[in-house]
Amino acid sequence: MNNREVRVRFAPSPTGPLHMGGVRTALFNYLFARKNHGKFILRIEDTDQTRYVDGAEDYILASLKWCGIELDEGIEEGGPYGPYRQSDRKEIYKEFAERLIEAGHAYYAFDTPEDLEAMRERLKEQKSSVQQYNALTRSEMKNSLTLSEDETNKLLEESPFVVRFKMPEDQEVVVEDIVRGTVKVNTNQLDDKVLFKSDGMPTYHLANVVDDHLMKISHVIRGEEWLPSLPLHVMLYRAFGWEETMPEFAHLPLLLKPSGKGKLSKRDGDALGFPLFPLEWTDPKTGEVSRGYREDGYFPEAFVNMLALLGWNPGTEKEILSMRDLISSFDIEKVHKSGAKFDHEKAKWFNHKYLSSRSDEKLARLYQEILRDKGIKVEDSYAISVVKLIKERVTFVSEFWDQSYFFFQAPTEYDAKVVKKRWKEQTPEILSELKEQFEKLENFDHTTLEKAVQDFLEGKEFGMGQVMNPLRLTLVGAGIGPGVLDIAELLGKEETLKRIQAGIDNIKK
Ligand code: GLU
Repeated sequence: MNNREVRVRFAPSPTGPLHMGGVRTALFNYLFARKNHGKFILRIEDTDQTRYVDGAEDYILASLKWCGIELDEGIEEGGPYGPYRQSDRKEIYKEFAERLIEAGHAYYAFDTPEDLEAMRERLKEQKSSVQQYNALTRSEMKNSLTLSEDETNKLLEESPFVVRFKMPEDQEVVVEDIVRGTVKVNTNQLDDKVLFKSDGMPTYHLANVVDDHLMKISHVIRGEEWLPSLPLHVMLYRAFGWEETMPEFAHLPLLLKPSGKGKLSKRDGDALGFPLFPLEWTDPKTGEVSRGYREDGYFPEAFVNMLALLGWNPGTEKEILSMRDLISSFDIEKVHKSGAKFDHEKAKWFNHKYLSSRSDEKLARLYQEILRDKGIKVEDSYAISVVKLIKERVTFVSEFWDQSYFFFQAPTEYDAKVVKKRWKEQTPEILSELKEQFEKLENFDHTTLEKAVQDFLEGKEFGMGQVMNPLRLTLVGAGIGPGVLDIAELLGKEETLKRIQAGIDNIKK
């Protein structure tokens, strides 16, 4: 790496909600910037007005915020190289397009869609391998290279035009990509891309290269889908005379379907039941709602941790990595070339890990919100004790209730399947006796209860299961939950005895 200041950018187009692949691109840029004490910049690339979607820009900002990806420069933060929204930089691009024309690297073209179609047909008939605007075909088309200056000026006044790049003939473009290695293309395989459109807006290629240059971007880290544009971008840097300060490039591997076959798509998410977007998104046109990791109950730290390991890893066994860990171990040179398979189960595993390592107090605060919505009021200390018992057993906070409702309400019915399996003829008698033992206890903690049960079982011809399973049924109403004596301890003596009695009275085979 050369010693210029590290400046990287995330440059999304606001054409819809940010896909998790886009978040990963932002994340890798951010990690790289922080690791190298550089700057992370957000640039909104909204020059394609036909694809602009209302709300997408806000969605991008909110997503980055939720993930804890902080911007140094951007549309809200400002910075020395603004504005950071391309539609606010419109005037800049025109000048640069004109510069290329003056230097003979670009030209005006006036072809109508019909003209272009006719060219394609003609080439097809001639069985030509090229079917595009390039060094071989441009001389037959309607542009400032084939028309006289007067004709050109007249058409510039009268009709729509675009500016095209004049791709030189037979030049080798060789560029080192940090991830992909050497990329080599001959310009004969490239076409005269449109740089500037008739609506007065630049295309992605022109705006992207001009802005990366003006914003002094040192490294372009972006998705693999942009790799085919790389040779054109290199040619643009050459044409502008900016090759010396051209950024380095790193194209990140695709996110693949869980099966590993093909690119991860929204359809996979719908079919297999996982979100593709960080936050929920409502399509402003159709009203269609797409699920988000946030709304599905993921912690942002878990989501970020999971994403960071798609296409990269620190080369150690350690998988649980905080943002700080990720920054200190991130190495762009170690990003994988091949696609990264997305694994939904692994995403859940990360969330479980983050959840179970959260403090009981923090989790209890989240649980209190759920309880409050259900109209249940309990002391914080009680919620903390409940959470402590169940947090190893769940993946999401939203599962707390199903794992612990019985701490807040006595059973009113009993799971028929469990009754059938666990409630034997002698069970009422066994439980009555056990209840008598429990009544005598002064302390009602787990250790005392365990001792009481052991004493109770001594010399009897029935075993632990014949006591504990029906006991659980009376306390919970079902066969679920944490250790049954932990449940009894937390419910307390009075409530436990009450529930055992209610079970004896009400459970019928
Ligand atoms: N605007 C492009 C996108 O939407 C940016 C690609 C790049 O980073 O150069 O992904």
